[in-house]
Amino acid sequence: MKKPRFIFIFFGPPGSGKGTQSDVLGAKLGYPVISTGELLRHEEKIKSALGLKARRYIKKGELVPDELIHKMMQRRLTKRDTTKGFILDGYPRDAKQLDDLLKLTQTKYEIWLIEIKVSDKEVINRMSGRRVCDCGASYHLIYKPSKKSGICDLCGKKLYIREDDKPAVVRERLAHYKDSATPLIAYGKKYKRLISIKGEQAIVKVKQDINSKVAKVIKN
Ligand code: AMP
Repeated sequence: MKKPRFIFIFFGPPGSGKGTQSDVLGAKLGYPVISTGELLRHEEKIKSALGLKARRYIKKGELVPDELIHKMMQRRLTKRDTTKGFILDGYPRDAKQLDDLLKLTQTKYEIWLIEIKVSDKEVINRMSGRRVCDCGASYHLIYKPSKKSGICDLCGKKLYIREDDKPAVVRERLAHYKDSATPLIAYGKKYKRLISIKGEQAIVKVKQDINSKVAKVIKN
């Protein structure tokens, strides 16, 4: 029998650690991790037409229109590294995006959803300490400090607070998150493909929970 190919979709509120955890799982499985947030920040940085259009939404914590995201994902999924399977972080974010993804991939892959649960209070707490680097690395003043304060361990550049990590914007993003999670949870429940993880544990414990649940899925 042909081995199934998997897509693992991570979702959780901002600051739930889904970025970190999707990278860990990606490295373990040898799958690329596709983060629409990262792809958009890259487009912004190189000042592409798409990046410039997306920028005004990102700054306000609003979702970037689905057509732009769809175009970007369509392009990304043509790359050969996705043929074995891949991980998604931050996409799909609404029912339309889920539908687009299903159309792009459904018959070729088995889709699983990994939900990282964190309370609103903890989200606000976490986001105020997040520091990022242009190279893509992400730190936290309390949970994951860089070795030298304010400096990236990987490339030595100065760390900064993302515009959309400011408290008013975080509240806006949280509200969007709740809307976006609804269709994903519904899909996961309907097809019995939902993995729920308690996100308010130590990062290593979250990682272990994900690994053991994903291992069961892959073995079956
Ligand atoms: P993230 O890094 O996933 O927190 O995303 C940062 C910002 O990029 C979000 O607040 C949105 O403005 C935008 N964004 C990322 N992914 C998507 C998506 N799938 N759909 C629409 N907007 C997105």
